Amino acid sequence: NLSERLKTAASYLPAGAVFADIGSDHAYLPCYICQKDDQARAVAGEVRVGPYNSAVSTVKFHGLTNKVDVRLGDGLEVLSPNEVNQIVIAGMGGSLIQSILQKGIDKLGTVERIIAQPNVNARNVRRWLRRNNYMIVDEQIVEENGHIYEVLAADKYAEDPFEEELLEQQLLFGPILLEKKPSAFYYKWEHELAKLERVIDEMKKASEKNMDKISQFEMESAWIREVLGR
Ligand code: SAM
Repeated sequence: NLSERLKTAASYLPAGAVFADIGSDHAYLPCYICQKDDQARAVAGEVRVGPYNSAVSTVKFHGLTNKVDVRLGDGLEVLSPNEVNQIVIAGMGGSLIQSILQKGIDKLGTVERIIAQPNVNARNVRRWLRRNNYMIVDEQIVEENGHIYEVLAADKYAEDPFEEELLEQQLLFGPILLEKKPSAFYYKWEHELAKLERVIDEMKKASEKNMDKISQFEMESAWIREVLGR
């Protein structure tokens, strides 16, 4: 059975999706989709041999070898240009997701939707999406085994309808999560605030040299308190 986290990511794939799941590990997500949806086709990409082999065996086990193509390689290099219409990248840090997208930018020609689930640093992913003409159309927070996960769905747009950058607060909290503020959002940011305040205390004790970083963090903790209404 697929985790809530991956089900949430999968829910952003349209019927008949032709997509890639990058960093697929066991290929659970593409197998789940291709079992339910006869028209769907997937590439499962993996950079490490162990997870690649796990993906190959999951796909064989479910009899999906004609629908899920497992490929060994770094990021989007496993794709040919114009091969897929959606890309899922889940379960990695936001900086890694952003660098995979940036390195593979020439493979995004036909990619209408990017679904990202950054474990940390979602801000980096949002900034990359914004700067590369993908507009965030939905965001969710999923709580699973005491962990909080953010899932982002972004669609390509031809012309920039707004031209302005997202505000730093929108990049940090997520433009849609900031509007909706689901209950897990409060849970996440209470936790992040406590962490940030501990870091600020430590930095203040450690040295005077980190003043820029400290004032950046203090500004962010003020944003968080504001969003939490305290
Ligand atoms: N996507 C699955 C999920 O969300 O449950 C698996 C997440 S797992 C924690 C991250 C996977 O990404 C690992 O199997 C790792 O080998 C793979 N990975 C890391 N960097 C990668 C890259 N540059 N290209 C492809 N796969 C990568």
